[in-house]
Amino acid sequence: MSMKTSSVTELLSLAATGQEVTVNGWVKAFRSNRFIALNDGSTLRNIQCVVDFEKFEEDILKQISTGAALWVKGVLVESQGRGQSVEIQVNDIRIHGGANPENYPIQPKKHSMEFLREQAHLRVRTNTFAAVMRLRSALAFAIHHYFQKNGFYYMHSPIITGSDAEGAGEMFRVTTLDPKSPPQTSEGTVDFGQDFFGKETNLTVSGQLEAEAYAMGLGKVYTFGPTFRAENSNTSRHLAEFWMIEPEMAFYDLQDNMNLAEDFIKNIIEYVLEHCEEDLQFLQKRLEDEEKSKPQHERSSMPLIEKLEFVSRNEFKRITYTEAIEILKNSKPNKKKKFQYLIEEWGIDLQSEHERYLVEKHFNCPVILYDYPAKIKAFYMRLNEDGKTVRAMDILFPGIGEIVGGSQREERLEVLQEKIKALGIDEKELWWYLDLRRYGTAEHSGFGLGFERMVQFVTGMGNIRDVIPFPRTPQNAEF
Ligand code: ATP
Ligand code: MN
Repeated sequence: MSMKTSSVTELLSLAATGQEVTVNGWVKAFRSNRFIALNDGSTLRNIQCVVDFEKFEEDILKQISTGAALWVKGVLVESQGRGQSVEIQVNDIRIHGGANPENYPIQPKKHSMEFLREQAHLRVRTNTFAAVMRLRSALAFAIHHYFQKNGFYYMHSPIITGSDAEGAGEMFRVTTLDPKSPPQTSEGTVDFGQDFFGKETNLTVSGQLEAEAYAMGLGKVYTFGPTFRAENSNTSRHLAEFWMIEPEMAFYDLQDNMNLAEDFIKNIIEYVLEHCEEDLQFLQKRLEDEEKSKPQHERSSMPLIEKLEFVSRNEFKRITYTEAIEILKNSKPNKKKKFQYLIEEWGIDLQSEHERYLVEKHFNCPVILYDYPAKIKAFYMRLNEDGKTVRAMDILFPGIGEIVGGSQREERLEVLQEKIKALGIDEKELWWYLDLRRYGTAEHSGFGLGFERMVQFVTGMGNIRDVIPFPRTPQNAEF
């Protein structure tokens, strides 16, 4: 096998001149004991391999079934059939590994997403998951590309954190203590002083606090890593382990922050529109088929690609929380008591039904909500002059809800100290975070984009479990 094997993508781009080629891949289908549709993951498309069954032993032919891994050698010719420009006339086949058709779970037919979640190790061999995962990869590249091009440094925030004041959600404990008999303090509580790190530690819920430290030296940084939340929320938009992108910028105010977030999102969407057309076409078609089985009012009004173009070409609507409350208060579902949580007064936290109303019914485009009540947002957000709102901003997307949460950070030492005290947090826990306000403090801002929610938006997948290779959710860590 000294000859260079080609990928299916390469082969499909060649002009067929009867040249000899070799390729590896998995059998998608084998028709009439003659036509193998071979796929290697390099593209959605398959290469058709035409087998003259008289040339091969029964034993070999028997092993060519859906799911089998093959090495194929032959000549590349113009295809006689429809649906492909070139095909391989096979001269030699080797079976890397067969896949017994009696029990190979991924058959050439439609499987439900639920079934495929139980076969998460094999589901990437379906067209849908391969397309989603190629898009996920492209999107990750686009994100790095955008930041690197714009003067940001990739910063690796720690995954194990010793600060329990991140405040973004419930945490998973990291410990090496024996759960059966952990050491006790004299007060009868677990003595974490004897734990691995000499203190309580958890998996991070956000890299923001550490990113802030690095922004105050490198200027502009971003994190892109796994994030963990032990919330027991079984929704189609929450994972216990997800990936988050958190840019943090020194000398940026809230306006700069919103401008960056909008430009960033539009750019990465443009990138996949430009580079992943084939997979997007496929997912669009898939979505259209799926929509047909839904009631009219639940169908999305735009085909996937049109929706992505719309978002990348139009301005996001920006309104304050206060304006949003006015709109919601006077909305039909509020007046007719259709919301589960009715909007009565300023200051309440918005539920996803409210966010979706704003985005999908009222404005029909992405919306940036900003200047939220201080009471419903994290302690580190910059207090406005009115003394009751903070410079927070959330970006809401159609079909997704909140995709970005960000803010300008409180850079004034005394204001931050007061807030920490009011919340009953021990200042000592945050000593290093407060140091950033003691030494060379400056206006700064940042946000967090949930990577999987972005992948959901771009692929049109309805459930977040289907846009990450091996989802972690309550009661589920099989793979
Ligand atoms: P939500 O209200 O939707 O639970 P949040 O306000 O708790 O989100 P943030 O702390 O603001 O989320 O996190 C920033 C971003 O990370 C969110 O805008 C979202 O895109 C994403 N995100 C948050 N929690 C999860 C999760 N459990 N699974 C996947 N993505 C998440
Ligand atoms: Mn948020």
